[in-house]
Amino acid sequence: MVVAAAQNSAEKSGRPETPRSENPRHVTVLGSTGSVGRNTVELIARDPDSYVVEALTAGRNVAHLAEQARSLRPKLAVIADSAGYGALRDALQGTGIEVAAGAEAVVEAALRPADWIMAAIVGAAGLEPTLAAARRGAVVAFANKECLVCAGPLMMDLVRDCGATLLPVDSEHNAIFQVFDFERRSSIRRLMLTASGGPFRQADRETMAAASPAQACAHPTWRMGAKISVDSATMMNKGLEIIEAHFLFAMPEDRIDVLVHPQSVIHSMVEYVDGSVLAQLGTPDMRTPIAFALGWPERIEAPAARLDLISAGTLTFEPPDPVRFPALRLARHALQSGGGAPTILNAANEVAVQGFLEGRIGFLDIEVVVEETLAKLPHSRLDNLDTVRHIDMEARREAGTIMARRSDKT
Ligand code: NDP
Repeated sequence: MVVAAAQNSAEKSGRPETPRSENPRHVTVLGSTGSVGRNTVELIARDPDSYVVEALTAGRNVAHLAEQARSLRPKLAVIADSAGYGALRDALQGTGIEVAAGAEAVVEAALRPADWIMAAIVGAAGLEPTLAAARRGAVVAFANKECLVCAGPLMMDLVRDCGATLLPVDSEHNAIFQVFDFERRSSIRRLMLTASGGPFRQADRETMAAASPAQACAHPTWRMGAKISVDSATMMNKGLEIIEAHFLFAMPEDRIDVLVHPQSVIHSMVEYVDGSVLAQLGTPDMRTPIAFALGWPERIEAPAARLDLISAGTLTFEPPDPVRFPALRLARHALQSGGGAPTILNAANEVAVQGFLEGRIGFLDIEVVVEETLAKLPHSRLDNLDTVRHIDMEARREAGTIMARRSDKT
């Protein structure tokens, strides 16, 4: 609830409050083997007396999950890919750690009684477990933006109705959360999301057309998983973040701006009606927003390098280029269209990014697959989760067909 929790508490004391339990805090990490997950595990491991780990979950990386489990001693370790069950069971034999596998077991992990859950699965695969955690009224440290993009209104309703708390972990939304005046939202004029511009900030379309997955994943300032790295290269990541900010902060699309800031020092800003602009700054290191969420409402130490503004030097800003990066327009269009359009955008983008990473389509085909899928399918209403699942499935099927046509051409 960022917003819901923050709003409720604002009614009482005017400041966001937390349902934080007594020490040690009971935590679960969904997606523990990924980039955000590993950073989260690292922070927990720095202060083991402060946490009881209920569950760790991974997609396929049995070896790393087993290593994390031996170190953090969760009660449950889950591998989503059922083929990894035997290997995980063998690796954790004799530890007393319960082992499970499959998508349902990941949801089961989210249902365990952790009062703080890191949602760091990549893609819409994280939707059901994140919703399961929200239904329990947990504090959800929220990294998995795709699930808010594909089911935003339903998720925010559920978070509000179940008294859950969404703490944004995405560095931009975390920055906004830190400077957003929940008591006086009418005094806020607009949100300014900063973007590094990605590896192709200055590239021409010809260079982008020939880009390899390795080049697209070579982010200039952040070290992240492959999917979000490609999203940063197309700038679809910023499009997804506009949608994420719209839902998290209940802000209309036309009051969410994007500003390219290649140094990634200012993580985002909020402009107020009196002209004041409040920003959160730091070195580009996800351990800072993760630590913010892990300790909230207190601050805990994070091993991120301290910001030295003198050596950071000049901070620069430029508008995003809508011609070289059409993904921003597509995302805004999907948000304006409403209903299932963001669900379609997200599903088509996931399929296309995967196709690009597997070498089946070129980099610039990603935007074509997304645009054509959005144009082809009706933007139906999002009545319930079954509708989300149906729209998501249809969009994946359609995007797959469009992608197959394009890969035939190459
Ligand atoms: P990674 O690809 O590095 O990690 C993804 C995690 O999800 C891994 O633990 C992976 O397991 C797991 N996973 C993948 N597929 C499934 C599945 N079907 N079921 C269950 N688990 C699965 O991603 P990131 O950590 O980079 O990103 C995670 C989320 O956080 C994304 O939504 C991203 O947009 C967001 N985010 C990431 C940032 C970053 O700095 N990385 C910054 C801001 C937001 P395994 O590896 O074992 O297969």
